[in-house]
Amino acid sequence: MEGPIMIYSMTDKESRDILKALTRSPKKVKNRTMSSENQENLVLERSDQENRMSSASAMGEYQNTQSHPVYSAISFINGQINRMDLNDLKQKCKQNNLDCHGKREAVKRRLKEYYKAQKLIEAGLLEPSVNRNVDYFVVIDFEATCEERNPPGYQHEIIEFPAVLVSSADPPHIVDIFHAYCKPTINPKLSEFCRTLTGIEQSLVDGSQTFSEVHQQFQVWLHEKHQCGTKYSYSIVTDGPFDMGRFLFLQTQHLRAEYPDYGLYWVNLRKCFANFYKGDFYSSTSSHQKLPGLQDMLYSLEMEFQGQPHSGLDDARNIARVLIRLISDRAFVRTNEKIVLTGNRNAHPTPHNYHARLQSVTAVTRKEAEAIYKSQKQAKNSFKEQDALQADA
Ligand code: AMP
Ligand code: MG
Repeated sequence: MEGPIMIYSMTDKESRDILKALTRSPKKVKNRTMSSENQENLVLERSDQENRMSSASAMGEYQNTQSHPVYSAISFINGQINRMDLNDLKQKCKQNNLDCHGKREAVKRRLKEYYKAQKLIEAGLLEPSVNRNVDYFVVIDFEATCEERNPPGYQHEIIEFPAVLVSSADPPHIVDIFHAYCKPTINPKLSEFCRTLTGIEQSLVDGSQTFSEVHQQFQVWLHEKHQCGTKYSYSIVTDGPFDMGRFLFLQTQHLRAEYPDYGLYWVNLRKCFANFYKGDFYSSTSSHQKLPGLQDMLYSLEMEFQGQPHSGLDDARNIARVLIRLISDRAFVRTNEKIVLTGNRNAHPTPHNYHARLQSVTAVTRKEAEAIYKSQKQAKNSFKEQDALQADA
């Protein structure tokens, strides 16, 4: 399509489609049986609705806007974008100074969000500056001891601890990096498979501090150096549920240490990505869409993996690149998973309860996520008050 997006008179079918899109109800979802896979899909569908109203609702400004005429205009523009081929979509991105990289679904979504934001701003329903849920995102990607086929109950120990601090300010950017290797104690000798997979040499972990020491330093870095959880709000971001739900959990159980608060909730970026860009651009063999892995997400955005896959630091940096792309495209990146700790937090894992523990990772509802953001905001406010009091004293 050439030139600016044109508004022309709608056919009956188009009007019906717009009406359908505007009045779509999540009823269909409610009736499904709730297998864990369906629960995941349910989160996807709900989050899509969130994305449609995200910017306004995140600022508490969503005021029954579904009936506002601007939504018809937005739906109409979306219809036009749907009919554009990839070259035209990229051309249109270029004209608007937007990133042109990505497969069709990603570029389409970027363009739709761009025009949506423009229209909402014009209608006075959205503030021009984007108000994010949190000040920082902390991307974590652990590497752990492993075997080629991890036997049930295998005691993974964290051997690489990278964290990439991403500011949500406009434009989003990497602020700082925490990185350390950890010396394992249950299986001090890394398997050949693990060394090849992660690129971590035996001598590297032999000369490193234990997880407990590294973990202490990480918490100082997070809470004291960057004041996350006090002066600033933050969300942990991971590629999938395993970093917190398996590796951090097993590690703290093994050490009989309390599971840390920062790891209770996180953003599983795969879900945000699938919610936002949608489409069938990542491979799916079943009727259910499979969540995209890191390589799939990069591929969809036409980004190359930088560094070596399965190096924790390189993985975390690349996850941060995807996160930054999502935020720049105005995706609603919110806390969507949590670990449910039942019984004794210090209980030692056995092969018998190994699988049961993994199921204690569940989806976080939007309401829950909002409560988390609210409590972080309250913490920020009371921190500010204390700061002001100290300055006055
Ligand atoms: P990743 O973040 O994908 O690099 O994986 C994190 C950790 O999961 C690795 O350090 C391994 O402990 C484990 N892991 C990943 N892929 C495999 C695999 N193919 N076989 C066994 N363990 C794996
Ligand atoms: Mg990794």
